[in-house]
Amino acid sequence: MCSGGQCSNCGAVGYVERHHTIFRSQASYMKFIPCNTVLLCVECHRGSERGVHHNKKVDLKLKLQLQNKLFGMFSDKFIKGEEIQEKLKCTKIDSTLILKKLTMYRQGYEREQLIRRLLGGRLYWVNTMLIKLN
Ligand SMILES: [Zn+2]
Ligand SMILES: [Zn+2]
Repeated sequence: MCSGGQCSNCGAVGYVERHHTIFRSQASYMKFIPCNTVLLCVECHRGSERGVHHNKKVDLKLKLQLQNKLFGMFSDKFIKGEEIQEKLKCTKIDSTLILKKLTMYRQGYEREQLIRRLLGGRLYWVNTMLIKLN
């Protein structure tokens, strides 16, 4: 699918494939959001042991990485719609799909509601799993 990249999980350089951190089945509206796409080597993507589609720990690790990134990206308590679209580098159509389920306050959209939505309707917590984050 894509050659000459670096695997987001193990760091290997070479042939990599695109993976949606939040699966299409979890949030179809995240399909075209750039930050939801990571590059993975074949082993980390489809491998039967450490492949993200078979290994829950790898899946959660990537989801936590995305969550951290989103909390960094949206640091204010409220964010305006245009700013969300700009930061997500997505189209108006995609941001509309994301935002239509959220409450719009006078100050904008609420940070945690937005991040939950972007993660497919929930947040992820490190202490719910036994993984070592690096
Ligand atoms: Zn890898
Ligand atoms: Zn995948």
